[in-house]
Order: sequence, then structure tokens, then C-alpha cells
Amino acid sequence: MSSEVKQERLLVVFDFDHTLANGNTDTWITKMLPSLKQMISEHRKSGWCWTNIMDKAFSTLHGHGITMADYIKCFESLKFIDGMKETCSFLLSKNVPTIIISDSNSYFIDHLLARDSLQDVFRDIYTNPASWDDCGCLNVEHYHKHQCKVCPQNLCKRKVLQEHVAQSCQTYKHIVYVGDGHGDLCPCLALEHGDYILAREGYTLLNNLLGDRCDVKAEIVPWKSGFDILQLLRMLCE
Ligand SMILES: [Mg+2]
Ligand SMILES: [Zn+2]
Repeated sequence: MSSEVKQERLLVVFDFDHTLANGNTDTWITKMLPSLKQMISEHRKSGWCWTNIMDKAFSTLHGHGITMADYIKCFESLKFIDGMKETCSFLLSKNVPTIIISDSNSYFIDHLLARDSLQDVFRDIYTNPASWDDCGCLNVEHYHKHQCKVCPQNLCKRKVLQEHVAQSCQTYKHIVYVGDGHGDLCPCLALEHGDYILAREGYTLLNNLLGDRCDVKAEIVPWKSGFDILQLLRMLCE
């Protein structure tokens, strides 16, 4: 009887906002009600968790008569970054295990992926669960609880990634993590030699990684568009 753990060549992990999508899904919705910006910034100042602020924003939008159809219309202008769809098609064609870990929410991500026929690319999507209630109001909850001191209280992407790898009963020759933001730093610092951090140029993650006192084992590759990512993934799949 063999008890060996199967090794896959690659696991690819994507953040969503400013990584796959060319903008922030949460702040995008302020286009429907510009006064939301003020409410968001006041609640941030008083230390509210971002997910709770969004839940409040959704109920405020509902109070102004904004419906699911309005959200869908609002998101029409939010596109995927150039080259990301090509990268997704490549990963699907090579059957590479690919996941999303995002601090957005399940409704926004599912909607945008389905709109652009990308839903089959991702084996798992880890994000804050959102749903529409009977009154037509969107609600969002924290993804999980964790003990991490540096991540927002609703989501530690390092914990999600470690649990995903443990559950998959596989090891990976290379983990490729594609991200841009502060929330991507914690999982990236847990990556090992042989792994890759694809950090968007000009964004917080890359600046943090390049800062001093940052102990990074994985190789850092800056990117500007999805085509840079596609190039690296092609090489790793050869
Ligand atoms: Mg992001
Ligand atoms: Zn963390």
C-alpha cells in the first residue's frame, strides 16, 4: 500500500481586487451613491472592520432603493486587467490548480467571473460569504476567525492558504502567489524557496516586500499586466 503524497508541479493563488480585476470591487460601488465614501471613511477612522463597513454600505444602498440590477450595471465598467483572461485560459488549458483568496466577497467575485466566463478556472474561491436577503439587500459576513496579529480580523490569507494546502493532501513544487495589497503580505512571508511572489508594480505588496526587515524566501517577480504573469507561468509549465 502506498501512502505517498502526490506532488503537483504548481499551485497558483490569485488575489482579486487590483490583481485580477482592475479596481477595488468594494469601493467601486460608491459610484452608485457617492455619499457612501464619507460613511466608509468615518467608520474606518473609528476602527470598524472593513467587512462590517461593507455590510453597512450594502444596507445603506438598499435604503436608497438600489437593487441587484444596479450593482450589475455599476460593475459593467470594472474590467479584468489586460492579459488576465489569457492567463486564466492558459491555466485552465494546462489543468493547473488555481484558487482565489480575496477580502472582497463571494457575490462580487462570482458575478464578475461569470460575466466574463472565467468561473471554471478556479477550483476554490475563499472570500467573505455574501448573499441577498428576501428584502433584496446584500449581506456579507467575516470569512473566518484567526489568531494572526497582522491581518484584518475577518481574514488571514496565510491561514487560508495553509489550510488549503493541508486539505489538498498534496505538495507543490512551486506555489505562485499573485497579489498587490497589504493583505497579501502575510501569506507571501510564509512561502518557501522555490515559490514565487508576483507583486504588482507600484502597489503596496511590492513596496512592503522590498522594505527592510522583510524576510522573504520566495522569489519576488514584479508585474505590470497579466501578460507578465502568463510569461512566468508558461516557463514554469514547460
Ligand atoms: Mg488586491
Ligand atoms: Zn495573517
